[in-house]
Amino acid sequence: MRDAALRLGVDIRFGYRVSDVIQSDNRVTGVVGKSKDKTFAINATRGVLFATGGFTHNPELMSDHMSAPVRLGGAAKGSRGDFMKIGASLGAKLHNTAAAWLAPIPLEALVRDPQSVTTNIFALRGDSMIMVNKYGHRTVNEKLPYHELGRSMLRWDASKAEHPDLRMYMIFDKSARVHFSDGTSGNPIKPPNEHDPNLVEGETLDELAAAIRRRIEDLGPVAMAGLNIADDFETGIKQTIEEFNKHAATGTDPNFHRGESAIELFRNGPARPGNEKNPALFPFDKTGPYYALILAPGTLDTKGGPAIDSEARVLRAADNKPIPGLFAAGNCAGFPSGQAYWAGGATIGLAVTFGYLAALNVSSNK
Ligand SMILES: Cc1cc2nc3c(=O)[nH]c(=O)nc-3n(C[C@H](O)[C@H](O)[C@H](O)COP(=O)(O)OP(=O)(O)OC[C@H]3O[C@@H](n4cnc5c(N)ncnc54)[C@H](O)[C@@H]3O)c2cc1C
Repeated sequence: MRDAALRLGVDIRFGYRVSDVIQSDNRVTGVVGKSKDKTFAINATRGVLFATGGFTHNPELMSDHMSAPVRLGGAAKGSRGDFMKIGASLGAKLHNTAAAWLAPIPLEALVRDPQSVTTNIFALRGDSMIMVNKYGHRTVNEKLPYHELGRSMLRWDASKAEHPDLRMYMIFDKSARVHFSDGTSGNPIKPPNEHDPNLVEGETLDELAAAIRRRIEDLGPVAMAGLNIADDFETGIKQTIEEFNKHAATGTDPNFHRGESAIELFRNGPARPGNEKNPALFPFDKTGPYYALILAPGTLDTKGGPAIDSEARVLRAADNKPIPGLFAAGNCAGFPSGQAYWAGGATIGLAVTFGYLAALNVSSNK
């Protein structure tokens, strides 16, 4: 797209942060903002199209709008929700602001360095691998598509008044590292000879559980979203793995039906050599080492903001009519998909489509 834009003579500028629009005769006719320490103003006679991303990296907006405490994400670091404020100041109607594109994300890398470019996890690889919560229990089919897996982590347990799955522990063994460390789709399992500072290790499951406890203390309550692991976490993990192993040996998962759908098997990758039953399931190694990674629900970005119509025109709250000259596309706009994530590409696909519709509208001089 960049090459095509340059070929057509588009003037692409970096380091310009728009803070407001210029208006004349009730029409948006340009933008103002800052580049380095200097202010700038750009006039646009036909209209302004915002494509400034969601608000993943604006803690205040995340706290105000997300329905559960999601605080981390792999979105562009500039996704700070500027258009929420700019749109609201123009009287725009807000839409879909509690929704986000979700996928689990490794917690520790982002806690260590919030500016690090940490990718979300698009497939939990591994057959001798499970994900457990603070009680050491599995809660979900670990091979679900990433958005559904991320959403499962937001579960509210009304009887305990908590989100028990906001921090999950991905547990696996050495064989999983040997057979499933392919480095694709954000797969966080590294090969056995590669050091990973985020990995928690133990020679036995008891040692692993104790090491997880220590790691959680190091990370602190803010990173852990206030969740402590339960007193019987160790027992929970051991019972869960015993139960998992029993069924995995027969290639079945009676509780969550892992590995029974085509999309799961596609994302899982091929079976390890010798596994003829279910490529997504295999009993854990009888002896350690065992490993854990701490996962959190993360956004690819949020997808709510000023509402748009079918021509990407931003709508006014007062009368549901377009604000003249103002357009939006992508995650800065109230996305028409609601909570749904139809498939990979639904994000960029719709962003590009609405950008195109805005351009058609502007070029037709409506
Ligand atoms: C790890 C990862 C993998 C992904 N893989 C896929 C995939 O395979 N397929 C797919 O369809 N989607 C994928 N997505 C989602 C996709 O990247 C986003 O949904 C998409 O980039 C959103 O486009 P956008 O134009 O709305 O915003 P962005 O791409 O976030 O771009 C917004 C830009 O605006 C800038 N900006 C913000 N505020 C201002 C301001 N005030 N002034 C000027 N500039 C500003 C930001 O810095 C940023 O550069 C992935 C996301 C992640 C995190």
